[in-house]
Amino acid sequence: MTLGDSSRRQFIRNVAAAACATAVPRLMAGSTPQDPVVDTVVEKNGRSVSRERIPWKAKPFPMKSVRLGDGPCKVAMEADRRYLHSLPTDRLLHTFHINAGLPSSAQSLGGWEAPDCELRGHYAGGHYLSACALMYASTGDEELRANANTMIAELAKCQTALKNGGYLSAFPVEFFDRLRERERVWAPFYTIHKIMAGALDVYVYCGNEQALDVAQKMAGWVAGYTQPLSYGQMQRILGTEYGGMGEVLCNLYAITGKDHYLEVAQRFDKKVFFDPLAAHRDELKGLHVNTHIPQVIAAARYYELTGERRYRDIAEYFWEEVVHERSYCTGGTSNGESWNTDPGKLSTELSTNTTECCCAYNMMKLTRHLFGWSPDARLMDYYERLMFNHRLGTINPEDGTMMYYLPLASGYWKTFGKPFDALWCCTGTGSEEYAKLTDTIYFHDNDSLFVNLYIASDLDWAEKGVRVRQETRFPEQPGTTLTITAKNPTSMTINLRIPYWAEGGSVKLNGTPLETFSSPSSLLSLNRVWKSGDKIELNLPMNLHVDPMPDDSTVQAMMYGPLVLAGRFEPVTREQQYADYEPKNSTPTKVPDIVVDADEPTSWVKSDPSQPLTFQAIGQSQPVTMIPLYQIIHDRYAVYWKVNKKSV
Ligand SMILES: [Zn+2]
Repeated sequence: MTLGDSSRRQFIRNVAAAACATAVPRLMAGSTPQDPVVDTVVEKNGRSVSRERIPWKAKPFPMKSVRLGDGPCKVAMEADRRYLHSLPTDRLLHTFHINAGLPSSAQSLGGWEAPDCELRGHYAGGHYLSACALMYASTGDEELRANANTMIAELAKCQTALKNGGYLSAFPVEFFDRLRERERVWAPFYTIHKIMAGALDVYVYCGNEQALDVAQKMAGWVAGYTQPLSYGQMQRILGTEYGGMGEVLCNLYAITGKDHYLEVAQRFDKKVFFDPLAAHRDELKGLHVNTHIPQVIAAARYYELTGERRYRDIAEYFWEEVVHERSYCTGGTSNGESWNTDPGKLSTELSTNTTECCCAYNMMKLTRHLFGWSPDARLMDYYERLMFNHRLGTINPEDGTMMYYLPLASGYWKTFGKPFDALWCCTGTGSEEYAKLTDTIYFHDNDSLFVNLYIASDLDWAEKGVRVRQETRFPEQPGTTLTITAKNPTSMTINLRIPYWAEGGSVKLNGTPLETFSSPSSLLSLNRVWKSGDKIELNLPMNLHVDPMPDDSTVQAMMYGPLVLAGRFEPVTREQQYADYEPKNSTPTKVPDIVVDADEPTSWVKSDPSQPLTFQAIGQSQPVTMIPLYQIIHDRYAVYWKVNKKSV
């Protein structure tokens, strides 16, 4: 999150609009509240109405229909859950109360929630609410739902006390005067977006009507602030900051059907960013990554709600460029929070502040949209890459604290934010991420189930009367087992993703090997009448493969199946781990160059049969043990290796 520009311009003073107060159509009786990126069907004059011009071809199941089984994802989710439980609501509310002139004797939080931080409120009134709502959907945790409801009730009091047309924040509205006048200010709309999204999530997942009212009143204020501004004035504001306002306003339209929200959403289209993408030109160099991806998510959402093809082009071209030209072996993107180079130039972009965690969170959100439009296995290959290399392993399983950057420079280590004194953007997106690990494992259409991710879990497809139990120790186990329970024999297709890394592989149905299989990065479709007790056993052999830098093939990462392997070096101290956003004031551990036969690039690594997912370097200048990057928490590590050809 960089600071904005400070060129000064005088704009028209803000006139706050009165909040919209018309009745909102209720969610259709019997329909399950969905995540806000998916169609929300509402009852209107006795008919069900959808706002979506482009409904997703494949949709996720409501998170409450999926429960995680034991494994690394559940460990991460439970660490996050404990962390959320550790945050007292009175401390979270403190700066909101103070800003609204209401009494608070609570101890203030630190880091980005400190009373003098310009981003205060982004976590406490935003990410925290989303995380509680998502965790409630994923686990049924009533205490977190109650906390979210308490927060909403108090935030509504603050909104009323502020007496400013629906404005709600932990910082004064004067920040927006500074934004309009191009004076220095951090990111007020970024923060407002998080608060609105948090309230919307509490409405959607927890059924809290007051939360929707809070969000709509905030939207009324946003409409009033932006309405007097000319197009040019608004574009200049977007040169400073923007956040994901477009997305949350689109979602508000999808829920309420009020066209006005779509109009306000479009005011946040940043022309100089969108136009090159629509024309398939990569002009991303120099941009701040984590504040631009949410704008593309907004474009994706706008396409779904209006059918305007330009916005799909923007989203799809952007995804291709970031994934194929600007991402490391982990799937992560950004260096020092920016894209600093031309496409495909990454070998000079290894540092201690590569791959901000928020960027992974936002790219995964965007990927779900693209998969919804066209359920292509390669989209979920990318999702899996991020899940197992960047999302797992950036939360500390011991205390639920989270990372900011995942350093890919060799010889450094992982740093985590202190529980009450960090509360960074990445703490926020992380709090949400590990609360919604249930949201993408399975998708469906009317007659098909898509098994996207191999994660131990139970699915209840209530409309079909079908349950699926997925039992796996993936990625320790190269494959999975799915067992069906059906009220009645049910005809449907089960689509299994065959990952890009799977060479060979096999599938058994009720113990009998099937002759059919599918090529890497495609779907294996099994169509039959399914009955209780049917069992699918999928075997996906993992092999070593190298992932070289696109612009320097002598700089390589080693992968095993979906997993980035990291060389493990000496442990660091607790003080070093909780010091900052990234490792500071330390020289890296010396990491050896690798010598290898060019014809056999993986031959310098051998599996260690004594432990799962453990490997040893062979024939190098020093012994190196290699394990999955996500399993490294307290040790220095190396992901990218300088590889020299063995002389003969
Ligand atoms: Zn971040």
